[in-house]
Amino acid sequence: MSAEETVFSKIIKKEIPADIVFENERVLAFRDINPQAPVHILIIPKKPLRDLSEATAEDSALLGELLLTASKLAQEEKLDDGYRVVINTGTEGGQTVFHLHVHLLGGRRMGWPPG
Ligand code: 5GP
Repeated sequence: MSAEETVFSKIIKKEIPADIVFENERVLAFRDINPQAPVHILIIPKKPLRDLSEATAEDSALLGELLLTASKLAQEEKLDDGYRVVINTGTEGGQTVFHLHVHLLGGRRMGWPPG
């Protein structure tokens, strides 16, 4: 399945609903439908990148914007004691939706190592 055909591209096109917390021309952030922590937000590029490994140097600013958006939303969500940012990549990385996304998780103590 190409990135263009995922559930996230449908959320970008507003074909299916999502609880959107931030949007600009390049980036969209919305709450995960199956949250793994009290705060669980997905930050995605509107550009249809399949995963992190598909990104190139051309996407440097976009990748930076995804992380800075995570930081900004963590502040807005008052995750002052910390949070976790995760990019699952590929099958072994646990990726299930093949449109690049950054997970912002917070509001509870995280374990390590991850499962
Ligand atoms: P991955 O496992 O690929 O890193 O993360 C995909 C995430 O997308 C999962 O946490 C899953 O709960 C979330 N997700 C899947 N489908 C939808 C949906 O239709 N809406 C929202 N808001 N989240 C979704």
